[in-house]
Amino acid sequence: MTRRRLTLLGATGSIGDSTLDVVARHPDRFEVIALAAHRNAAKLLDLCRRHRPQVAALYDAERAGELARALAAESIATRVVAGQAGLCEVASLPEVDTVLAAIVGAAGLPSTLAAARSGKRILLANKEALVIGGALFIEAVEAGGATLLPIDSEHNAVYQCLPSPYARDPGAAGIRRILLTASGGPFFARSDVDFDRVTPDEACAHPNWSMGRKISVDSATMMNKGLEVIEAHWLFGADAQRIEVVIHPQSIVHSLVEYVDGSVLAQLGHPDMRTPIAQALAAPERIASGVPGLELAQLAQLTFAKPDRERFPCLDLAYEALRADAGAPIALNAANEVAVAAFLSGRARFSDIARACSVVLARRGVTRIAGLDDALAADAEARGIACAELGVPLHPGVSLAA
Ligand code: NAD
Ligand code: MG
Repeated sequence: MTRRRLTLLGATGSIGDSTLDVVARHPDRFEVIALAAHRNAAKLLDLCRRHRPQVAALYDAERAGELARALAAESIATRVVAGQAGLCEVASLPEVDTVLAAIVGAAGLPSTLAAARSGKRILLANKEALVIGGALFIEAVEAGGATLLPIDSEHNAVYQCLPSPYARDPGAAGIRRILLTASGGPFFARSDVDFDRVTPDEACAHPNWSMGRKISVDSATMMNKGLEVIEAHWLFGADAQRIEVVIHPQSIVHSLVEYVDGSVLAQLGHPDMRTPIAQALAAPERIASGVPGLELAQLAQLTFAKPDRERFPCLDLAYEALRADAGAPIALNAANEVAVAAFLSGRARFSDIARACSVVLARRGVTRIAGLDDALAADAEARGIACAELGVPLHPGVSLAA
């Protein structure tokens, strides 16, 4: 049995909750060394009481001060660090071997890159970091001797259906297609919904998965699946034409790999993130996750359909970005983050999300990405265009500064 020492980036979120649930079932296998989050000091304090990490990190320095005082008052010996530097520190601690990257959005890129550079086993939920990082991210993983394991459910499913070892070359492995399944979100089956009037709560009411609000909106627009196509490109070395999306409203088949001999391998399970998290945490071993078995006769029906590319244009925007230059996925992700935040705060309509993303892809100028500075410039440029288009205050891009 391998004992693993963990840093959990995004510990207070939905993936954080699922991960700590699995970890708590196996105290003999996992030790929580560090927990990190944005600004929820109260929840992180509670997690420190239960998991007693050596280090806790909050991006927000003021909240980090509050957390340090509260821990001292309870004589809990957890050291507190703050800012981007604090997040990068906990992602690269020498005593840690596994980093679970579950910060939402571009904000997770610097710390996830730090984990890559220091050769960690990275369990990746933060798909935006891979979409923006692209080739730079994969290079950092290779140069640092890190290992990348997907916990996004579709990519974890594909990973489980691939031969092992797999060298990011689908042609050499006899793979014809990678089929990513998508539930279609809350609006797929409701053709009467007016996308100018949808509320944030309606968009976040996902039929099968319980998730953070940003990814829930992404699922409703299908931008989530678009980002996942780009994520699959980088994880598995497959070009856009080899990656297809199929609607599967029950979210039981989590994705499939089709081989040239006609075999199609799939991974099935209940829609519960504890399954892919447990798989990646323990791989190549298997551990209990708390998820019950599938009763196929009770499910009775698994159905599949083509995506509706007219009502959900974000999917094709992502394919377009993947086929364009290296700046395009970065711009698309940044525009989407701005527009989703504007929608969730009541400053934009649901329909504005796809519109703003399309405008940004058409107007952006940064196309060549030679290093991280170029990636951050493409991100900042796209945020500027999206904010102007939506009439919202400038949204700060991701910063590598402390
Ligand atoms: P969430 O909103 O529930 O949690 C986000 C976490 O990120 C929180 O712990 C928050 O404190 C942290 N965070 C946000 N901004 C930060 C910053 N600037 N610095 C440090 N920490 C910051 O989101 P979630 O649903 O847990 O999703 C997390 C990531 O996992 C996203 O990239 C999402 O796309 C991906 N993902 C989630 C699911 C799911 O089922 N929830 C499934 C697949 C992939
Ligand atoms: Mg997914």
